[in-house]
Amino acid sequence: MTDSAKPLAANMAANTHADCIFCRIVRGEIPARKVYEDDELLAFHDISPVAPMHLLVIPKQHLSTLYDASEEHHHALGSMLMLAGRIAREQGAAEGFRSIINTGRVGGQEVYHLHLHLIAGPQHLGPMIVPTQQAPKHNAPHQ
Ligand code: AMP
Ligand code: ZN
Repeated sequence: MTDSAKPLAANMAANTHADCIFCRIVRGEIPARKVYEDDELLAFHDISPVAPMHLLVIPKQHLSTLYDASEEHHHALGSMLMLAGRIAREQGAAEGFRSIINTGRVGGQEVYHLHLHLIAGPQHLGPMIVPTQQAPKHNAPHQ
């Protein structure tokens, strides 16, 4: 049987990583407070919310970071953005929200299964980034 002919659940298992915490949520091995699920995506509450609403949207297929995104992830990545507004509204964030994808060490990524943070609260969330150092005045090389 070719991969494309296999049942979706079998393909899903093949595309998850054994020790990845979010893959384990996808496989139902550890619990999550799910707010949305379809064949491609899963959304659930962040375990350590930083605001009254803090959800994570993930592709079910394992993808470590945006650096690793390729054509095969095109649809899921688009779907994540389309789903963001819908879920935010459904979960009561009608006046705006913040969507963040952290990538790598500099981005502060802790879980290496790509996820979109959806963050909102009744109040304005404050500055997007609290500066930790003086921003360079010109296009300094990145470290
Ligand atoms: P990041 O720093 O962008 O990789 O964010 C990882 C996020 O995953 C953090 O906000 C964590 O609180 C969250 N997180 C880690 N483990 C779990 C879990 N088991 N269920 C829900 N959220 C989790
Ligand atoms: Zn994973």
